[in-house]
Amino acid sequence: MKKFFTNLFIFMVTLTAPAFGNTYIRFEISFKEPQAHYAEIKMEVSGLKKDFIDVKMPVWTPGSYLVREYAKHVEGVAAHDASGNSLEVGKINKNTWRVASGKSDRVVINYRIYGFEVSVRTNFIDDSHAFLSPAATFLYVDGMLDHPAEISVVPHPAWSSVSTGLEPVAGKPNTFEAADFDLLFDSPIEVGNQDIITFEAAGVHHEIAMVGGGNYNKERLIRDCSTIVEECTRVFGVNPNKRYVFIVHNYQSGGGGLEHLNSTVLGASRNGYQNERSYVGFLGLVAHEYFHLWHVKRLRPIELGPFNYDTENYTRSLWIMEGFTAYFDNLILRRSGFLTESAYLQALVNDVNAVENRAGNRIQSAAQASFDAWIKYYRPDENSANTSVSYYNKGALLALILDLRILEATNGTKRLDDVLKAAYQTFYVEKKRGFREPELQQLMEEVAGTSLADIFQAAHTTEPIDYNRYLNAVGYELVDYHEDRNIPELGFATSVNDGRIMVSAVSRGTGAWDGGINVRDEVIAINGERLDAGGKELNRVMQTAAVGDVLQVLVSRDGRLRELTITLRQETKGAFNIMPLSGATEEQERLGNIWLSQPQQ
Ligand SMILES: [Zn+2]
Repeated sequence: MKKFFTNLFIFMVTLTAPAFGNTYIRFEISFKEPQAHYAEIKMEVSGLKKDFIDVKMPVWTPGSYLVREYAKHVEGVAAHDASGNSLEVGKINKNTWRVASGKSDRVVINYRIYGFEVSVRTNFIDDSHAFLSPAATFLYVDGMLDHPAEISVVPHPAWSSVSTGLEPVAGKPNTFEAADFDLLFDSPIEVGNQDIITFEAAGVHHEIAMVGGGNYNKERLIRDCSTIVEECTRVFGVNPNKRYVFIVHNYQSGGGGLEHLNSTVLGASRNGYQNERSYVGFLGLVAHEYFHLWHVKRLRPIELGPFNYDTENYTRSLWIMEGFTAYFDNLILRRSGFLTESAYLQALVNDVNAVENRAGNRIQSAAQASFDAWIKYYRPDENSANTSVSYYNKGALLALILDLRILEATNGTKRLDDVLKAAYQTFYVEKKRGFREPELQQLMEEVAGTSLADIFQAAHTTEPIDYNRYLNAVGYELVDYHEDRNIPELGFATSVNDGRIMVSAVSRGTGAWDGGINVRDEVIAINGERLDAGGKELNRVMQTAAVGDVLQVLVSRDGRLRELTITLRQETKGAFNIMPLSGATEEQERLGNIWLSQPQQ
């Protein structure tokens, strides 16, 4: 393995570390055993002179609403004073260590973190690179989140580059500063031999740190990312960053992203860049995370910042933050020319399918889904589809009908872009705080010149949405080819495991639900006919079945045979499409053109 790396300068005082009164906090990260997925962290806290110092590891990272217990990957916490005398360290709860600092002026805390989870919000360290999710890496002094910090990265000798949105400290290689811990926890760090691609767009210097290789075309990537940057900036009218960093992790098969103030982390498929569909999917992710630099990182609900890193931070407005972003990511692709009109409409249909064909849409509202993200969206199980809805899909549809309603009410002179621009100015720039949902609604209604109460109400209830009320106004209609629903529905889904047909989901409101089919049942026979693993027999039964037919289903449940009776009910799921409205007026078509074309400058 690589050369053993020792830090010999543990007592070297860094006089230039950011001062806060006469205190400073400084971190040094090094990699002695990257092959075993460890990083060594040295934290120096100076000037506190307290009997004890409590240091804490966040339990979650903003943008990803799940308590991840990052402290579980911390080990070997030890402390000493400026003279090298050991200081006693003990844990007082799951993520807090109490250091008996004995009024020492300078306290050094050493610890190791383990990182071997591939995701955009967890640490990953191996012999080729380290991705540091800051909330999983840096301890903070309890009560001192507003304190600045200096961060020095000592790359493993085989690594050459550090990529992060943190501000570099002049004259100190691989050293950065954060004005406070909110900023530090919002600034992931990539260390390794990443391919760094730079470009200027919207007056901002952009860096793409490509990790893990891939068949991307640099020129095309620069051109297409520039277009997305310009289109996102056009929505808000101003780009608040001077510098922005994309950290892209390329895997055999990857996806997902996490937004930050002036950077983002994206997962991508290493060999997906030459496949048009996969590449447009990647550009959609770029648009989504870039849009967030305004929408959620700056324009945000009042509950989302400053954060409490110790526990869940609840908001009912993720349908606005994630839903609107999900609506705009496709719209940005359409405006940039990466999606044809029909591909864009299909993306909307996908949202309609995801919402309307999910039984949980009639159980959970978009606002409830937002509030319970911590225990539902981020912790799905076999019953999730029956009990919950995605605030991404439902929120995107609510954004759609808001956009269309504003276009209609203003004769096409205003749209959702104008609302976001005004809200960014009002809450982020002027009031310098998050919004309360009624305040955002009020501002939106001022822009629209009409009440939007019914749509905001729809976000808080499970009442059906009359999409055509809004789509017709712009010359389109949602059609459902299953409208009469006079076709039978089986009500359970299967997957083949080791040649066995296993039930993977049971839908609420179907004959399978009534008849007691369970997830994990092995389906052996229907009406006395043994099923083949290819599912042909199952298809044959359903093709000739009618609503009201009774099926005898033989299953094996935990090794015991059971015969269950299913009475087929009518189809609960729609077959949706969005089509041009026949007989649309000129005015409807004019509004439709505004909706799907590039906004006027
Ligand atoms: Zn998002």
